Amino acid sequence: MRCATFLIGVLLILLLSDPAGAQSEPANESPDEETICAITRSRDCSIDAAVKRGLFETGLRPRFPTGINCRTIDEHWAISYTHKRSRESYHGGIDMPAPWGEAIVAAAAGTVVAKVTDPDRTQRGIEVIIQHSPDDTGLPLWIYTSYGHFRSEPQVEVGQRVAMGEVLGETGNSGSRGERQKRVNRPRRPALHFAAIFTESSQYTIVRGTHVVPVDGRWADPVALYRGLTPIDSHSMKGLPTSQKEVDIAVLLDSGEVIPPEAKIVWPYKCSRNALVPPPERYCNGRRCSVSRQQSTSQSTKARRGGRGRCRGAADVRACREARSRGPRL
Ligand SMILES: [Zn+2]
Repeated sequence: MRCATFLIGVLLILLLSDPAGAQSEPANESPDEETICAITRSRDCSIDAAVKRGLFETGLRPRFPTGINCRTIDEHWAISYTHKRSRESYHGGIDMPAPWGEAIVAAAAGTVVAKVTDPDRTQRGIEVIIQHSPDDTGLPLWIYTSYGHFRSEPQVEVGQRVAMGEVLGETGNSGSRGERQKRVNRPRRPALHFAAIFTESSQYTIVRGTHVVPVDGRWADPVALYRGLTPIDSHSMKGLPTSQKEVDIAVLLDSGEVIPPEAKIVWPYKCSRNALVPPPERYCNGRRCSVSRQQSTSQSTKARRGGRGRCRGAADVRACREARSRGPRL
């Protein structure tokens, strides 16, 4: 009898410990406050939370296939944006300028989990966020890619599955601008702002209708996604030897060809064997430079001269002057 009671007890313990259940996804788990701060970077949050979760420079750079032309990055991952914000700030993505209306494509297959259609809700403007499962990317992580500054409302809807390379919408320059940028009244150039967040959980929350915050979400340098292997976290990427800082980028060509053919994550603009139409030139003297190169240079020089005095007293005078000569970017 004692033996039977003991066996029943052991069985009960085994059933309650539920080793199979321990591997399943937690139901309705929500991100903690620190993760919410790290991803939303709200005014009442310290920037330290975001930095702790990977928002710092890694030194990764894209390397496109030989003979292939792609839209490339002009504002890299996590560079300082403090000079154009009213507080310490870093670039939460990479920017790729392109002509107005150029198609932005999904970097990988996935599910649209958020769409921001009000161009003035955030600095990223009209935006789409896609959730990619481990099967979608071949990486053992849940990855979220976001695409900002669309020209108009993208045609994809929340809940919709998209394929790798599927067109999401058109390049634009939508997005709110800070008071500093409004004051100098320079338009933002058309560009894609492309960002990536990753986690091991499939659970996420949408905060204020504008931010997808995954449970234990962490920032990734988007270029890290193209390494095709883990880890992708910023500490590991920063620690890579120089020889591995250049990352081979898989691309979708305008012909439909994918290089390499087995790729599951491609560049979010189509590339081409032909020369690309150049994006609009930099802004000069408060206006887009639609004039000759010589005139542009002249205007740019004037803008720099005219702006110098206004940078006096700035925390970083050199960065301020450079920013004034280049115009705002997000
Ligand atoms: Zn940006």
